This record gives sequence, structure tokens and C-alpha cells, in this order.
Amino acid sequence: MGAIDLHARASKEYEAKLAETQKLLIQAASEFAPLKQASSLGAEDVVITHLINSLELDIPVFVLETGALHQETLDLLARTQVDSRAPVEIYKPVQEHVVQFVAREGKEAMYRSIELRKACCGIRKLEPLERALAGQKAWITGLRREQSAARAEVPLVDDSELARNGRSKINPLANWTWGDVWHYIQQNRVDYNPLHDQFFPSIGCAPCTRAISLGEDFRAGRWWWEDEAAKECGLHVKNEEKVAA
Ligand code: SF4
Repeated sequence: MGAIDLHARASKEYEAKLAETQKLLIQAASEFAPLKQASSLGAEDVVITHLINSLELDIPVFVLETGALHQETLDLLARTQVDSRAPVEIYKPVQEHVVQFVAREGKEAMYRSIELRKACCGIRKLEPLERALAGQKAWITGLRREQSAARAEVPLVDDSELARNGRSKINPLANWTWGDVWHYIQQNRVDYNPLHDQFFPSIGCAPCTRAISLGEDFRAGRWWWEDEAAKECGLHVKNEEKVAA
């Protein structure tokens, strides 16, 4: 049974949430320009890219190609580059920094300590993210309140980092359920990551992402060897808590 059969269940308020999301994206394209969508090529992100394309919005999409993604994710990235109306930008880490880190700490450093895992995320994700977002007024993410306790308060427009970096974060799916996300994918025949058919709810780097079992939390498949509280890569951590940058 695939992810669509397992998960596609629209909530009662789905149509209203979809309308709210479309309105927010249209408004963001004019009021927050220049802005970009950050895509991990997970289910939420392919929905947002599909919406940007179907609404013909002038919002580029960017992907952090960390050098450690699954082949399935790289294949979807290649297809997205061909199919997307919006430009798809790829940001890679500084190769020299990756080589030095792996030579010093080994390929499996992330399993040895939270500090080393965050150092790896810093090189492969956070530094490229800062490059991707340079000069932007806002970025769009696929964060949803339902994803984890740490994300339970995610607002549609998050201005909490505005004073520090001059950027707003827009979370158009904040109110969507997992069932809503898959209902949209089903209704609109959106191309999605086949890892979702193998019980990966969250798409990340291959060494740090695993399938989950029935009943496990959405984020249980990410950095599963760590405590729940430590489980953010820094992309969505407030500055004062950011260790990896
Ligand atoms: S998710 Fe894992 S492999 Fe990817 S950057 Fe972070 S520690 Fe490194």
C-alpha cells in the first residue's frame, strides 16, 4: 500500500485551508518579494511547489543538496528541475569544508555526538542556507504544527527573526494535517518522493533519516539516536538556540 492510500484523508476544513494557503502565497509573492521556497522535496514541499507553479507566482524554489541525499530524492530533484515553471536553484556545501570535516571526524561523525551532528549540519545545510537566503525578505517552508511538539505553535507568518536577519518565514501549510497534504497530492497528481511509500514521513540526508513504524511520531525517523529536544538541524531553530551555525 502506498503513501496516498495510507494517508490521503482530507480534514473537514480542507477547502478553507487550501483557500487560505493560496491567498497567503499570492499575498506573499507581492508583499514579501524577493522571497524563495525552501524545499527538501518532502511531501509538504512538493505541495507548495505545485501551488507556486499552478498559481504562476514569481517565487523561485531552492534545494539544499547536502551531498548526502537519497538517490530517490536526487531523482525527484532532477524531475522537478524539468517540470517546474518556477526556477529550481540548487545550493551545495563548500566541498573543501566537507572533505576536511570527513577527513578529521570520519563519515559517521554525526552518530558520535550532538555537537558533531550539528557541525555536519552547519557545513552541509546552514552555510548553504545562508547563501540561498542572502538578500531575501522572506522564505517559504513546509512546517506544520502537527509535525512535532516543537512545531506546535508554528504561525502562518513568523516575524520572530525579522529584527535579527531581516527575513520573515512563511509557513503556508501550518494548519494542514498529514491527511490534507496527501489529499492534495492525490487530487493534483503531484510527483512525490517514493521514499514516502517506504514509510519515510520526513525527507532528509540518507545517514540521518530512517523509516518509521505505525504510531511513531512524524520526526521519529530523523536523528533517531538523539533525544527529542535536540532534533532540529538549525534551519528552524531560533538564533539563540542555534548551535551549529
Ligand atoms: S542531516 Fe546528517 S548528514 Fe545531513 S547535514 Fe545533518 S548531520 Fe550531516
